[in-house]
Amino acid sequence: MPEYKTAADIFECQLCGECCKGFGGTYVTKKDIINISKYINFDPEKFNDHYCDPSGSRYVLTLGKDGSCIFFDKIDQCTIHPVKPYMCKAWPFIQTIIQHPENWNAMANSCPGMKKDIPHKDLQKIVAEEKEKLDKSSQNLTSRIFDS
Ligand code: SF4
Ligand code: SF4
Repeated sequence: MPEYKTAADIFECQLCGECCKGFGGTYVTKKDIINISKYINFDPEKFNDHYCDPSGSRYVLTLGKDGSCIFFDKIDQCTIHPVKPYMCKAWPFIQTIIQHPENWNAMANSCPGMKKDIPHKDLQKIVAEEKEKLDKSSQNLTSRIFDS
């Protein structure tokens, strides 16, 4: 039986761009808005009106004419990669998998980089570790942006 210990054992992005297509996926947090606005030199107060659509009580990134995220480019892929929203950075190691590892295979149906049928215990451990790493690096990024 194969061993799954690290993120690289269960996921390798194929850069297909599928996760950047379609409405409704990409929520932005306040931190995301500040970080992206700073990166693209845009007024954060106007960010939601210009780059987002409302979705329930939150905002999601709007789509370009080709139906992909407004920040997606066919050649360069994500044009805001260093500051992309938390949920883009986290994918596919998202919180819900820690509670519901059974959702992993369904997510993998639309993401060719994810290996299927990972034992739930391994999955939960890897996702928790990746989430912790991301949360630490996100805090550092925000402090750097506020300090600069
Ligand atoms: S769908 Fe999966 S493999 Fe394709 S770009 Fe997104 S994360 Fe990478
Ligand atoms: S912000 Fe970047 S990674 Fe996230 S959906 Fe848009 S193009 Fe894709």
